Amino acid sequence: MTQDRKCPSCGATLTYNPGFNTLTCASCGYKETIAELVSKVPVEEKKFAEAESAANTDWGMETEVATCKNCGGVTIQSKLQLSGMCPFCGSTMVEAQDPAEGIMAPMGVIPFKITEKRAGFIYKDWLKDRFLAPELLDENSRLDKFYPLYIPLYTFDVLTDIEYDARLREGFAQVPRRGQFRHQIDDFPVVASKTLTSNEFLMRVAKDFRSKDAKPYTPDALAGFPCEHYSISLKDAWNNIGGDLRGYFISQILKESGEPLLSNIKTNVKYYDLKYKYIIAPIWLNSFIYEGKRYLIAINGQTGTIDGKWPMSFGTFAKKAASFILDSYGL
Ligand SMILES: [Zn+2]
Ligand SMILES: [Zn+2]
Repeated sequence: MTQDRKCPSCGATLTYNPGFNTLTCASCGYKETIAELVSKVPVEEKKFAEAESAANTDWGMETEVATCKNCGGVTIQSKLQLSGMCPFCGSTMVEAQDPAEGIMAPMGVIPFKITEKRAGFIYKDWLKDRFLAPELLDENSRLDKFYPLYIPLYTFDVLTDIEYDARLREGFAQVPRRGQFRHQIDDFPVVASKTLTSNEFLMRVAKDFRSKDAKPYTPDALAGFPCEHYSISLKDAWNNIGGDLRGYFISQILKESGEPLLSNIKTNVKYYDLKYKYIIAPIWLNSFIYEGKRYLIAINGQTGTIDGKWPMSFGTFAKKAASFILDSYGL
């Protein structure tokens, strides 16, 4: 376990600076590059069969599991830099509990490329077609505040032997088509965050990561930045991957067979040499309450993809709402 990083010139605590791969000191302006985040070393996959015995639970820092009493969100944070603020709902009713003992530490981290300022611009652009009536906003809601968060993500590598049995239309007849081929799946992602998987809009944001650009894990990337506790175990992620993989196999079969019009495709797949990576991936979250309902807007911190469910409202409020939001951003 390493100590939290102190500023060499003034002794204050250093904080991760999203978008710049640096640790910075808010007191004196000191800056240093986080070596892992600019390294060219790829994150190595591990064998799935050895996941339990080989799991690393050392986060490289003193951790605290923080639970939000308002929305139930659970994050893992640096003990010395607890944000005291829930990234899912902005509430300060966050209770820090025990250290994250026994909780698997990430193998890799995708650095934030999108700064908070850039997130504000992306949001402004997205808002152009969306309106709401500001007076219906809960008074504690802030549209101008984005919270950073890392979400848990597994990726799977596996060698497959795919056998398929399908039908092909020839004139008025349906003829059988069978085949088999070998295919290597590389970095197939599974989002391990329940907050995001339960929301189709946020899921779009969560699925847009380029996991190949993950860097070796370092606690420096979590200096002042919370990480959502995975709510889907690695085992469950693989056991329930069938539905997601089915669509992937169908597209591979259409490609491999050279017959894009195959139908009634049945598959039989054998898996070999299953490997995984557990990485954390950056998002910016905005949350507000409108007419008693909570809304979450997420921006992918790597690619800038934005989405979220938006409250229905009336176009007549458009001008008022837009100027209210843009003013609060100073944009
Ligand atoms: Zn300093
Ligand atoms: Zn919360």
